[in-house]
Amino acid sequence: MINKLIKKVFKRPKSHSSVKATVIGASSHHIDKSHISQCALSVIKQLQEAGHQAYIVGGAVRDLLLQQTPKDFDVATNATPEQVKRIIRRSRIIGRRFQIVHVQCGHEIVEVSTFRAKASLDSQHQQTDEHGRLTRDNVFGTLEEDAERRDFTINALFYDPQKNEVLDYFNGVKHLKQKHITMIGDPTQRYREDPVRMLRAARFCAKLNFTLDASCKTPIEELNELLLNVPESRLFDELLKILLSGHALRSLEQLSALHLGNYLIPSLENSLDKEQGAIFIKQALTNTDLRIKEDMGVSPSFLMATLLWPKLQERWQHHLHLGEKNLPALFAAMHDVLTEQDEVLMIPKRFEGTMKEIWGLQPRFEQRSGQRPFKLLQHPRFRAGYDFLLLRAQSGEIDNALGQWWTEFQASPEKREDMLIKTDKPQSRKRRKSKA
Ligand code: ATP
Ligand code: MG
Repeated sequence: MINKLIKKVFKRPKSHSSVKATVIGASSHHIDKSHISQCALSVIKQLQEAGHQAYIVGGAVRDLLLQQTPKDFDVATNATPEQVKRIIRRSRIIGRRFQIVHVQCGHEIVEVSTFRAKASLDSQHQQTDEHGRLTRDNVFGTLEEDAERRDFTINALFYDPQKNEVLDYFNGVKHLKQKHITMIGDPTQRYREDPVRMLRAARFCAKLNFTLDASCKTPIEELNELLLNVPESRLFDELLKILLSGHALRSLEQLSALHLGNYLIPSLENSLDKEQGAIFIKQALTNTDLRIKEDMGVSPSFLMATLLWPKLQERWQHHLHLGEKNLPALFAAMHDVLTEQDEVLMIPKRFEGTMKEIWGLQPRFEQRSGQRPFKLLQHPRFRAGYDFLLLRAQSGEIDNALGQWWTEFQASPEKREDMLIKTDKPQSRKRRKSKA
């Protein structure tokens, strides 16, 4: 009975023999070979010369067809990881569950993976949990099977640079032209196999400015809870991909619209709804997207600190209303917010430490007398804290004058002493003494 039910829910995928590629020759696509990495070209050439199939796959083909320069290159081949390692110099096998090969060319790494087969309940190699999530899918397959196990039609394109042809199994090229994202196979089943595909759908819509097909949108409402069942490290990786994609703002808006946002950051949808919080977060994400476009570094801790700031302020106010002093109230609020966050998605401790420092520095920027501003300048997180302060000023949360004061204080060492705000300094000493 249960077996029957399971079989009904997870219909066996179409046999690979029914999957056929449309070959798109040089005259029908406009791939500019100068956009292709020499490293990827050389890897493919060597694999093909050794008698294997090898293609550029995934996002790189998508980007090439859209006349964009891909940021990285993935290669798919029928050679096993060991065979790839033997054929290609400077290559190493990585990963335990599913091995892939990294080929290093200077700073660039080309990822080579062996064709994999799609989920099948009948296979001995694949297993699902009680929600239908694949927990093992480490089985090699054919080129057709590899196309079929990919998520969206626009992601199942294979490019052979030697022949200058694209193999298109599921009308991906047509969907690219239509700016349309649609799943290979039954979306509900594919989301069940891997709920992260829901997040990926939102990410690609945002990145490419494409529309998600209704068939892929509708099931999300019912299935979004499956994200609770995904290993946190994977969710965090996906969150980082989103934040560092260069389209973080649009992605988070998409995620919120699809009611997926709160599975990554529990207060996100609420924060994006509230005026002040929304302005702050949007300003932060706009700055981040700009920095990425200009190839400037972005700190994930800083970003996480911004995303949780509206909620943190709410909790801070709450503790102040309970009569707690400013700093203890702030630290209590940090604890609340991070506990709530960790229940949904644990932020790695190394990031949490920096986030707390950035938040903890904020009240210190208000102290502009005596030695304190000088000490603050020496703080290892001063720069991040200051950037955070500017963001608060930029979004109208605090007076611009405070940010400007700190900008000038850093820039003009000769003016520092004069800039200090005169207060009754001995008083604070006395207070400390009387405490001792
Ligand atoms: P990006 O440009 O953002 O890197 P991408 O399409 O290359 O986009 P990756 O996460 O690098 O995305 O994955 C590479 C390819 O692997 C995808 O294009 C897709 O074919 C396949 N893939 C990745 N994740 C999944 C998944 N969860 N389910 C099915 N296929 C996937
Ligand atoms: Mg990629």
